[in-house]
Amino acid sequence: MPEQSCPECGAAFFYDSATKRYACKGCGLYVTKDELMNIKDRQRAGPDEYRKRKQQQSEYLEWWLSAKEK
Ligand SMILES: [Zn+2]
Repeated sequence: MPEQSCPECGAAFFYDSATKRYACKGCGLYVTKDELMNIKDRQRAGPDEYRKRKQQQSEYLEWWLSAKEK
């Protein structure tokens, strides 16, 4: 699998094989591969909706990262 990088901040993604999602430690982005492609469209088309969704992902990422450390 080719390495993915965050469309938002350019940092490397962590791939979580359990949920099949990519997580960015740089900005908190947390997406599936399909969502990753949608984000690139969304960044051009609807920045407000995109930010709202990103906030939710950021909260989930905090939980996810803290759970992994245990
Ligand atoms: Zn990022």
